[in-house]
Amino acid sequence: MRKPFVAGNWKMHTVAAEAEALVAAIAEGAPKAGVDLAVCPPFVHLRSVAKTLEGTNVSVGAQNMHFEPKGAFTGEISAAMLLDAGCRCVILGHSERRHVFGESDGLVAHKMTAALSAGLRPILCVGETLDERESGQTMEVNERQIRAGLEGVRAEDMAAVTIAYEPVWAIGTGKTATPDQAQEAHAAIRGVLADLFGDDIAAATRILYGGSVKPENAAEIFSRPDVDGGLIGGASLKADSFLAIAKAAL
Ligand code: PEP
Repeated sequence: MRKPFVAGNWKMHTVAAEAEALVAAIAEGAPKAGVDLAVCPPFVHLRSVAKTLEGTNVSVGAQNMHFEPKGAFTGEISAAMLLDAGCRCVILGHSERRHVFGESDGLVAHKMTAALSAGLRPILCVGETLDERESGQTMEVNERQIRAGLEGVRAEDMAAVTIAYEPVWAIGTGKTATPDQAQEAHAAIRGVLADLFGDDIAAATRILYGGSVKPENAAEIFSRPDVDGGLIGGASLKADSFLAIAKAAL
């Protein structure tokens, strides 16, 4: 019942010409059905990327946003600005935002409700560090981040929410969670969703895996019952590898 979803997080990569070439190749080769796709370029390319993707089934997302609608917040971007630039979704609580820029669970929660009330579809990222995994806290950390991130979210808004389980130790490191580790974490997260919103919403919510997904390992990870696609960093910067991963989700 859950359609697979594969989103590319370009992070702080690509100047304009590179972004244009990358999105043009993705638009050209994207599967027309069977998987939802999104690309999340740097803010400065959102409008041009959205224009290239018009009429395709690839949507545009942002990598972050501020929770206030407008004001004296130098360097920040609002949900309304993202929508105006052609965005439909936004990554929130990415591990680099949490661990490099110090975003707290509370801040992420604030952004979640702001995104939803503006009409953006948030991808809420959660995941444990290596220390947390090695000290047996994986499920506790994921549960805390899920409960906190969804604190103000109403059941009727959950159709717009995607969760991404991204173990911090697997992001950009070349180390991937095994399919069993991913399945175990995803099933536990789905259990928390069931506790918060009931079985039907838990069963309908997509949970993506992120952390060094590549064309070589995508199909096996995506084959697990609670893994509904992926959030892809490094491998989304080359059209052929992003498209191969998208096809592995079909
Ligand atoms: C990410 O940035 O969300 C990510 C999963 O990165 P990578 O695929 O490079 O590990």
